[in-house]
Amino acid sequence: MRSFTILDFLKLNSPCFCCGEPIEVGAYLIGSSITGTVYLKPNMSKTHLSVDLSIKYETAISLSIDLKTNKFVASCPMKTLASFFKDRKLSIETQCRDCSGITSDTLSFNFYKAFIKPVEVAYEWYWLRHKNHVYVVSSGYDEDITKVMLTTYSGYDKIASETTYNYPLIPRYRFKDRQAMIDKLKLYTALS
Ligand SMILES: [Zn+2]
Repeated sequence: MRSFTILDFLKLNSPCFCCGEPIEVGAYLIGSSITGTVYLKPNMSKTHLSVDLSIKYETAISLSIDLKTNKFVASCPMKTLASFFKDRKLSIETQCRDCSGITSDTLSFNFYKAFIKPVEVAYEWYWLRHKNHVYVVSSGYDEDITKVMLTTYSGYDKIASETTYNYPLIPRYRFKDRQAMIDKLKLYTALS
């Protein structure tokens, strides 16, 4: 599986693969059944992703990650950070509200050397319209599966047919642009 620096992970879908608009960067702090999952909004600069993790936690913890090297600096001692992450995980995502999103696998921290191991994609989705067809593509990298929901319209908003196809993983990064992906999807769904 391909893995990335944080910067290259962000670039996978920035700008949005489908519409070309700027994307939003978000993060999920995944806790226990008690603490739950919290959506966080990182602060982005050209060089760093910074995020405040201490929501619902007694100690102030924020992380600043260098996008190019994956090295991080924490606002607390490394021991505190390591114990914070004993029962929590962090993942990041790039999302266009309208038509695409990529979520990373949970980040793997090296607390001794203060860096995050190369990041992998866990899940991605795309909404692609081509003439009277709409393709909604969602891929789970752990399951190695891509689902394609193809909706064909007979009028402006009148649905003529709707079919879901399952394929072995079709990673988006294989396609240079949206048209290349649409061409491949047309071929796959016609042959199914
Ligand atoms: Zn978009």
